[in-house]
Amino acid sequence: MEYGNHNFSNLQSDQPLIHGIDFKHPEDICISAMKGYVKIFTYGCQMNDLDSLKMCSLLAQDGWRETQSLKKADIIILNTCSVRQKAYEKVLSNLGRLRPYKRRKPSLVIAVTGCVAQQEGADLIERMPHVDMVLGTHQLHRLTELVHEILIRRSPVIDTSFSEEIPSLDLVPGKEFIRPAHRAYTNIMQGCDNYCSYCIVPYVRGREISRDYQHIIEEVRKYASSGVKEIFLLGQNVNSYRGGRTFPDLLRMINDIDGIERIRFTTSHPKDMSDDLISCFASLDKLCDHIHLPFQSGSNPVLKAMNRNYTRETYLGLIEKLRAAGPGIAFSADVMVGFPGETHRDFEDTLDLMERVRFDLLFSFKYSPRPGTRSAGFIDDIPEQEKLSRLRQLQDMQKRICADIGSKRIGRVYDVLVDARSSRHEDQVFGRTTHNAIVNFSGDPSLIGSTVTVEITRANPNSLTGEQIGAMR
Ligand code: SF4
Repeated sequence: MEYGNHNFSNLQSDQPLIHGIDFKHPEDICISAMKGYVKIFTYGCQMNDLDSLKMCSLLAQDGWRETQSLKKADIIILNTCSVRQKAYEKVLSNLGRLRPYKRRKPSLVIAVTGCVAQQEGADLIERMPHVDMVLGTHQLHRLTELVHEILIRRSPVIDTSFSEEIPSLDLVPGKEFIRPAHRAYTNIMQGCDNYCSYCIVPYVRGREISRDYQHIIEEVRKYASSGVKEIFLLGQNVNSYRGGRTFPDLLRMINDIDGIERIRFTTSHPKDMSDDLISCFASLDKLCDHIHLPFQSGSNPVLKAMNRNYTRETYLGLIEKLRAAGPGIAFSADVMVGFPGETHRDFEDTLDLMERVRFDLLFSFKYSPRPGTRSAGFIDDIPEQEKLSRLRQLQDMQKRICADIGSKRIGRVYDVLVDARSSRHEDQVFGRTTHNAIVNFSGDPSLIGSTVTVEITRANPNSLTGEQIGAMR
């Protein structure tokens, strides 16, 4: 999972609710009369990014506009993450900082959504009485209805109930609801049945539910007809998808949709990597050469204690099969250090696995117990200093591997789908290769949304630099 880092700074200008896109064609969408301003803070993974986009869409259609100014906001939403202790504490501290805003403007609606909302429920309002709404992970579709209820009744509302299905929200009335315009994220499933011993997700996102494949295909077709080229399938465990078709079947159907040029997905569980799915990397021309496959630890005893249901040998076997199916495929993963009982030998096994796989990107964390999970009952016996030292050692090794992988890309030519203008260099744009590597190069913003060929000239710590050598298409 990728973790965002959002804070309360730079809150100056007002913007349309849909990030970065003006409402130039209001006839395309049905928007109620302007009601006020909303500010959404998003924490955590891509699932939360997508949920924030859904909330933006719902509120925009109800007449709310986005502001970056906390003072001006009539609704403030914290879309939260509780997967790590640090993220959880940050949410509570930022909520505390909203008290003065509520004092100054009593009509302000403060809403908490996402995993912290699901986990805390009514307790959150008891601890933070300035919060008006606690909306669980399955109830986002009720957002505008509950905002109205608060505005009329002026009393807090809480809904953290779980649903049997994922409601299909109509988010694609036009390009305005897609950010950036050439890439769209689609939820194919949510929740998790795996109960890894350290993880709060099954408790806050609920059991696995898959969306019907026909709804997904219909949504992707709509995206394609509105100009989307890259589709990103999201779910806590996409490769255990069961929405009337298997996940590989779903990929094959999307691969056949005209207009879609690239398909990505995240997150996958190693125990659900079937041979059929692996073969898709050989047979589907639109499936990107990248997979995010969390391994968490390279040690079998630790994997067992984590309840991951695979061994290091199985994981390495999968990597081998994936490399055979898609030579040049790039790997990213999540890894944790300092899990209860992790010995030096266990940690060495993790480093050894990293050296064997050579990940392009690694999200690394030190273990922190999450209340309510099984491992919270284990003795957290690795001293903090030792956890930090292992994390540093692991990250140093990863930097070295990344530098090595990057240097080998110099001189090679890649297709780059251009995402946006560079924030650092006015004359540059950046985009991604099919391996998910970020490439910066000199170019005009008119290239955004098109694919160009770029020769790599330099490897930077987190990106590549290149020169455009092929025309856009
Ligand atoms: S697979 Fe494990 S780590 Fe991933 S969401 Fe499910 S319980 Fe959490």
